[in-house]
Amino acid sequence: MHDWQELYQEVILEHNRNPQNFGVISAPDRVARGYNANCGDDICLFLKLSGNEIEEIKFSGEGCAISRASASLLTLAVEKLPKSQAQQRAEEMLALLTGKKQDADSVPCLRSQLPLLGVRKFPMRIKCATLPWHALLEALAN
Ligand code: ZN
Repeated sequence: MHDWQELYQEVILEHNRNPQNFGVISAPDRVARGYNANCGDDICLFLKLSGNEIEEIKFSGEGCAISRASASLLTLAVEKLPKSQAQQRAEEMLALLTGKKQDADSVPCLRSQLPLLGVRKFPMRIKCATLPWHALLEALAN
């Protein structure tokens, strides 16, 4: 058992109660919306870019605790990163969340985000957790 597995509940509750970077950016450079009909999660990401770097990222919308916590953790994982690196982190996180990649300890840069992987024990909720990361990839691609 890894530390991050024990932290799942705590981290979800904490980020749901006190989400980081919650709000909107006026005149954002990129916007993407993630919607999960199964749960009703509807999350919007706003990005402000400076050259190739994500200068600022915020999220807003309605969602369950898992989707909100995931979005909050996402903003912390990619703020101030070059777009290409942010994209790489999102791809790594999606691979871990969906179980395509098992070895979580191989991505130390996502250590703070790893408690989210506790959701793998609840297959019905994995979409709640992946939603913001998919939205980020979309925002970076368009
Ligand atoms: Zn949800």
